[in-house]
Amino acid sequence: MNPTWESLKLDTGEVHILPLRDGFRHEPDDCPCGPVTQPVHAEDGSIGWMLTHQPLIEET
Ligand SMILES: [Zn+2]
Repeated sequence: MNPTWESLKLDTGEVHILPLRDGFRHEPDDCPCGPVTQPVHAEDGSIGWMLTHQPLIEET
């Protein structure tokens, strides 16, 4: 089954994509799961960052 994802936008403009119902508690800053960082182009031409966190504990 695919995990359910939650997106969280920080004041810094970073968007974090977090796996819901993961048994691991993810941190918005320097997360131990090693999120994948990708640049995202906003409509106004600026570039933001999207950090996709990795599910560490799978549901059974
Ligand atoms: Zn994480």
